[in-house]
Amino acid sequence: MYEIVKTEYADGKYGGSDYGSSIRIVMRSLTHVMFVGYGVNIIERKYDYRVTSNIKICDKIGNIIDHKETIIDIFGEQSIDLLLNLKRGFGTILVDGGGDKLPSPSHVRKKLVMEEYESVTPTKVGLVPINKTCRFCGEALKPVLSSYSFDYNQIKDNPCFTSEDCQKFTNQLVYSIHGVDIRYKGMWDRISFFQYWDGETFHDDYFCSDKCAMNYGRKVVRDV
Ligand SMILES: [Zn+2]
Repeated sequence: MYEIVKTEYADGKYGGSDYGSSIRIVMRSLTHVMFVGYGVNIIERKYDYRVTSNIKICDKIGNIIDHKETIIDIFGEQSIDLLLNLKRGFGTILVDGGGDKLPSPSHVRKKLVMEEYESVTPTKVGLVPINKTCRFCGEALKPVLSSYSFDYNQIKDNPCFTSEDCQKFTNQLVYSIHGVDIRYKGMWDRISFFQYWDGETFHDDYFCSDKCAMNYGRKVVRDV
């Protein structure tokens, strides 16, 4: 009936706090969630209703001082002992399995979305090998690229998924392909634009950057 798991955190909006913050879940059941966020609070899931606000769970000698009856009523008699034994800041008590988790903090959700995006997006850069290198540092020279963007309707109705698909739109070499904006959920696996290269034009024919050109110049002067 009771199980203590690794501390859970949820979106700070339940604590009425700023965007991007999080709350620590102390205990959750099928019907209620107790969390720390500007004091300890209990909300009723069904109505998003705050049963208690900013209570203190226990005093210095370990007695429950606020809303003991309410806590027992909601989470059961044994929950009091578990609460008192919960190490400060660690662990979340699940009552009867705990029900659904509250939504994760926004930074955690964002990270998951980015990981999902990276796993399905076709974005790839550097599809054409570059054989010319910087005379100073040996890095590949930077090609002069042009871009081709697809419009929304094409991405939706007649999409490109691979560099081969894009190659039909140019006589030059497809150098990179880029996925669609992650806000367009079901369309992540489609290409929204690609870059192409004539295979011979570089921003600079000898150096990868102005810095390398300058350093090369200094070296030549020094060596003379
Ligand atoms: Zn360089």
